[in-house]
Amino acid sequence: MSTPSSDLEPTHDWSAAAFATRAIHAGQDPDPATGAVVTPIYQVSTYKQDGVGGLRGGYEYSRSGNPTRTALEEALAAVEGGARGYAFSSGLAAEDTLLRAVLRPGDHVVVPNDAYGGTYRLVAKVFGPWGIAHTPVDLTDLDAVLAAIEPGRTKVVWVETPTNPLLGVSDIAAIAAMCRAAGVLLVVDNTFATPYLQQPLALGADVVVHSTTKYIGGHSDVVGGALVVGDGAQLPIGLVGPTGTTSLADAVGFHQNSSGAVAGPFDAWLTLRGLKTLAVRMDRHCANAAAVAAFLEAHPKVTQVIYPGLASHPSHEVAARQMSGFGGMVSFRTGDAETAVAMCGRTRVFTLAESLGGVESLIEHPARMTHGSVAGTALEVPDDLVRVSVGIEGIADLIADLEQALA
Ligand SMILES: *Cc1c(COP(=O)(O)O)cnc(C)c1O
Repeated sequence: MSTPSSDLEPTHDWSAAAFATRAIHAGQDPDPATGAVVTPIYQVSTYKQDGVGGLRGGYEYSRSGNPTRTALEEALAAVEGGARGYAFSSGLAAEDTLLRAVLRPGDHVVVPNDAYGGTYRLVAKVFGPWGIAHTPVDLTDLDAVLAAIEPGRTKVVWVETPTNPLLGVSDIAAIAAMCRAAGVLLVVDNTFATPYLQQPLALGADVVVHSTTKYIGGHSDVVGGALVVGDGAQLPIGLVGPTGTTSLADAVGFHQNSSGAVAGPFDAWLTLRGLKTLAVRMDRHCANAAAVAAFLEAHPKVTQVIYPGLASHPSHEVAARQMSGFGGMVSFRTGDAETAVAMCGRTRVFTLAESLGGVESLIEHPARMTHGSVAGTALEVPDDLVRVSVGIEGIADLIADLEQALA
């Protein structure tokens, strides 16, 4: 397998540049063939070789490598501060590839007790029958995390912070120290925070997972996923990968090409287009979400507001330490399911829909929508809970909409 790289002309080192600069330029040099300022959509499956094995820029076949995808992968690695990025056709495809690269039958995984439903389903219903055990744990309880790690058997601790939809915040650095001591791989799903607000690799994680469908894509027009592997990250202790090394990046690269759930060129291009504006969008998402949370907290029909930026949030201090902003997701309780369901049907600016992280505001009822499949499990959510993905519209319109929907 080749290792594609944009080595047709020397690339600038963007590692010292500001986040917004990296998001716009890293991996995205003007096209070497034409000078096109934006990375073109290389809608192509195969590449002419200059003599047998004479690959231009390392490209031979687009499952193994495609220049549009390479640009996205290099940009993602740069914004997460990682060594290598890998782009997939969905967040779950990225998770599936990662878990297959690092687990073997008989292994055990610690997962959040309020993990993203699709992640839980993958671990429990797909990996379970292949001999992988799992334990759901409240990751805000560090003693519980430590107790759930079984020496020699646990190979992965899966962290999501903030979580969905209860916006639990766990201490990445503290969990990283436990994982290091036990030789366990620490995976952080950074979808909700984004690399702009939280840098898990710098806090000690080995690998970051994204559903780029959400904030990184940012416009509700593409499904995608990513893995970013930290510099020098190794496979769980005792595992040698298919290429004969213990390098996590080698194993993930091998599995990405072998399983083939890659991002297509157009999807990679849309995701890259979204990434360029991530910093400015997140600033507005955070400001609007803080205003929505403050409005809801003062509303008589709202019994509880869950937002990491509120002093009332149980992990507010951890969030303030490890995040540079509190994100665009707000959850709240209305006291009874009828009120929650009714208000979800009455908004006009907030669209009733699953998913999150786009420029437009969305509202949903987790118990009957995104989290319907986890009813009756450890991941069940209260039925009076409403979740909003606060978009970047005018804040007065958003608050007026919630006010009339609650009236
Ligand atoms: C959406 C989501 C996923 C799954 O990603 P897809 O792109 O839908 O496959 C994983 N984790 C989190 C936190 C998510 O929000």
